[in-house]
Amino acid sequence: MAVNGPAGGPVLPAHPDPWLERVLRGGLPHELAYAFGGPYHLLLPGRFDGNAAAFRAALTEAGVAGQVYYAKKANKAAVWIERCAANGIGVDVASAGELRETLGHGVRGEHIVVTGPAKDGDLLRVAVLQGCLVTVDALDELERLLARADAGGASPPARVLLRRLPPGQPHSRFGLDGAELEAALRRCRDAGDAVRMEGFSFHLSGYDVAPRAELAHELVGMCLGARAAGHPADRIDIGGGFPVDYVSAADWDRFTRTQGPHDYHAGRSFTTADFYPYHAPAAGARALRAVLAARPAAGGPSLAGRLRGAGVRLLLEPGRALLDRAGCTVFRVQGVKERDGYGMLTVNGSSLSLSEQWFGSEYLPDPVLLPERPERPGGETPYRACVGGATCLEQDLLTWRRIVFPHRPRPGDLLVYPNTAGYQMDSNESPFHDLPLPPKAVVEEARGRVRWRLDRRTPC
Ligand SMILES: *Cc1c(COP(=O)(O)O)cnc(C)c1O
Repeated sequence: MAVNGPAGGPVLPAHPDPWLERVLRGGLPHELAYAFGGPYHLLLPGRFDGNAAAFRAALTEAGVAGQVYYAKKANKAAVWIERCAANGIGVDVASAGELRETLGHGVRGEHIVVTGPAKDGDLLRVAVLQGCLVTVDALDELERLLARADAGGASPPARVLLRRLPPGQPHSRFGLDGAELEAALRRCRDAGDAVRMEGFSFHLSGYDVAPRAELAHELVGMCLGARAAGHPADRIDIGGGFPVDYVSAADWDRFTRTQGPHDYHAGRSFTTADFYPYHAPAAGARALRAVLAARPAAGGPSLAGRLRGAGVRLLLEPGRALLDRAGCTVFRVQGVKERDGYGMLTVNGSSLSLSEQWFGSEYLPDPVLLPERPERPGGETPYRACVGGATCLEQDLLTWRRIVFPHRPRPGDLLVYPNTAGYQMDSNESPFHDLPLPPKAVVEEARGRVRWRLDRRTPC
């Protein structure tokens, strides 16, 4: 088969991961593809533990007391919650189901923060009974919370943080503006023992350090003000948004400079702003270090110094960054054909198991081809192809980009999408077309042996 067009399209390989490569080049991926009969995810809890430890180390090094909460919406698997329970990491939940699942896998209520807008009555009731910290998003929500907290006097006080509407993102639908914050503080004071106002929170979209540090400085000042009015106010929560570094600077730079409609199926076009920033020079715990070291423009101590000086704890809710390199997604190639001079692979699943298309975007790190049989000598001619799902929708492409494969894939080969644990795996998954939801296999190494088991998530 002739090579379709220029073989040299932009490539975006994920950062090398020698341990995972060894696992993938062994027999396990094909064995599991046979056992499950459909696409599946691999989960690597050892990586989650390492990422959580790095965040904690950044707090310790800065001499800042704090708590890391895993933002559960980034991946539904039980194994992360089991690791949180075992290691004293907290969990950020936003629904009654997430709260049940988190308590059920052993995380204590005091280590849970409940976020999300207009939380419903059931969620608030269980949160209060379990002593969870609740970030209040609106005044009517505060009323509903207080109604649960003092009903019959049997409940512990409701522990609350007041969520700040970010001044730099005034169109956000989340949080309380200045006047609402004042009203909420008054309401908390009037509620007496029914409530403990423990501090303030925010969650910013985007991944920049400066706006996070700036708003955190402001929240420390707000804690001091609230204390003067008699509230405990001894913590701030800076939310998530710690970036993940998927690909090298050089590859990302070349891609963003050269990508255009010629790189995609059906001449589809994306601007760079449509994509997640797949290269981040300071990712994960390094981004937290930068936030802690940031000084306000007007001068004064670093955020770490300010927190220490004021006796304010720093809470954070990373989702994606705790899952960095903690999983990948495996599809089997079901069909291979050519269209308009490039290849079209069809895999045994849908783009809903890669979750980026609903943002009008796509997941860019290159999938790795694991051939079922070794390639014939001399058969190594690069081959560009897009990847479609096994559905009847023109729109269902896992990858619109014409990926450069080392040779023409064959039915039965596997495609492994790297580093998919953060948001890609299940936020959009759907049994559309009666396709099975991909199971999750937890892979660990114990005494030199690689072992796997199914994840223990409670079926809903
Ligand atoms: C989604 C979310 C997070 C996690 O964001 P990441 O970008 O995955 O770190 C944290 N806190 C809140 C309130 C969220 O909505």
